[in-house]
Amino acid sequence: MALRLYNTLTRAKDTFEPLDPNRVTVYVCGPTVYNYAHIGNARPPVVFDILFRLLQHLYPQVAYARNITDIDDKIMKKAEDEGETIETIALRYADAYREDVRALNVLDPTIEPHATQHIDGMIRMMQTLIDGGFAYASEGHVLFDVTAYDTYGHLSGRSLDEMVAGARVEVADYKRHPGDFILWKPSTPEQPGWESPWGRGRPGWHLECSVMAEEHLGETIDIHGGGIDLVFPHHENEVAQSCCAHGGKPLARYWMHNGFLTMEADKMSKSIGNVVLIRELREQYRGEVLRLVLMTAHYRQPLDWSRNVVMQSRRTLDRGYRCLHELRTVEAADVAPPPALVEALEDDLNTPRALSVVSDLVGQANRATDDDERAHLKGLLLASGQLLGLYQANPEAWLKGEVAEGADEGVDTSSIDALLAERQAAREARDFATADRIRDELAAQGITIEDRPDGTAEWRKQ
Ligand code: AMP
Ligand code: ZN
Repeated sequence: MALRLYNTLTRAKDTFEPLDPNRVTVYVCGPTVYNYAHIGNARPPVVFDILFRLLQHLYPQVAYARNITDIDDKIMKKAEDEGETIETIALRYADAYREDVRALNVLDPTIEPHATQHIDGMIRMMQTLIDGGFAYASEGHVLFDVTAYDTYGHLSGRSLDEMVAGARVEVADYKRHPGDFILWKPSTPEQPGWESPWGRGRPGWHLECSVMAEEHLGETIDIHGGGIDLVFPHHENEVAQSCCAHGGKPLARYWMHNGFLTMEADKMSKSIGNVVLIRELREQYRGEVLRLVLMTAHYRQPLDWSRNVVMQSRRTLDRGYRCLHELRTVEAADVAPPPALVEALEDDLNTPRALSVVSDLVGQANRATDDDERAHLKGLLLASGQLLGLYQANPEAWLKGEVAEGADEGVDTSSIDALLAERQAAREARDFATADRIRDELAAQGITIEDRPDGTAEWRKQ
């Protein structure tokens, strides 16, 4: 089956055909680094990580850029509030972001461009747009002239009139048309800024992405992704800039947008006070559990975060790891992931279907008795996990809750081992009352003991 992706541009599930199958190009809008990321912010990196893994499975080379926006008014405000430079703020939160998403088994992108390292390219693109009659300078600003680009609004399906009527654009006297958007804005001497032919200033967010995509991936890329809230104005404006700077060539051929994450059915927002940071959740749950939650719904659907779905995801992973633990003496066969799994992902990244394929595999492996069959199923399970970014941890460590650093699901393994040894000694001394007391004590901590036929015992978190 061929890969089919829902394309926001055509509003249909299109068959994916890369421009150059030897180098598939993907650009995803990354974070503006002024704060710790919340769990909603984790949805795009996880969704596009699955796409990245799938493309790597299907094509020899994938160039995947996920940028860091390290200049922005919100970063400037944070720097001012904290009495630090924007560089310090950006570095701190970019590091935190990387750490958070890596904990969710998100692979590093191939390229991680930083906006401030592309100012020359931005100045060049603005000059090209001005020369072509698509942009103009006004009072230290450079603005894109939306009336010069016929198909403005095509991606988001809005007309200029609607945008103005809906007050989705800011009116300002330095603009010719209220829909014109900023490519460059002036900085005061105290504000961060760069010299340009239009005075000292700083770039607009939309321009940054157009230039980073061009520089690292080329004028037309295969897939551009981001959250659904970015379609307008961010992506619409990226399209206008890139297309007009590149003689009409499209910026991206496939546009993918993930749906929003809600928190107990409410929109996650600072004003409601229900924003949960990835790092707060990582103190309670392992990263892989958080990742699985984000995979339980199709990426275009809204997804509601609830304790229930988190616990369910944890149980699912425990079941899979328990199965792998049971197969620990079996050498995994070297096999490709099952076709049913690849087909589910090829169907516009249908992760719920992909997860049910994995669940069936676990069931089959649990029932299998034949050695060859068990080796084959273990191979399939691990290959599936590799493609989905799951089941890469050591099963025994997982079951003992040791996997993630700083996770409070983790337990003090040395004290459990000591209690287990004490229980063993009591059993050998036929002091069953003490042995039972220790079992109950561990059970109260959520630890289950499994006595093995050879007289030894193992423990795991419930
Ligand atoms: P922001 O911090 O709002 O600029 O968002 C950064 C990225 O996270 C963007 O790609 C947004 O589309 C995405 N995003 C923000 N909030 C959510 C949410 N609740 N659910 C899914 N994606 C989100
Ligand atoms: Zn962007």
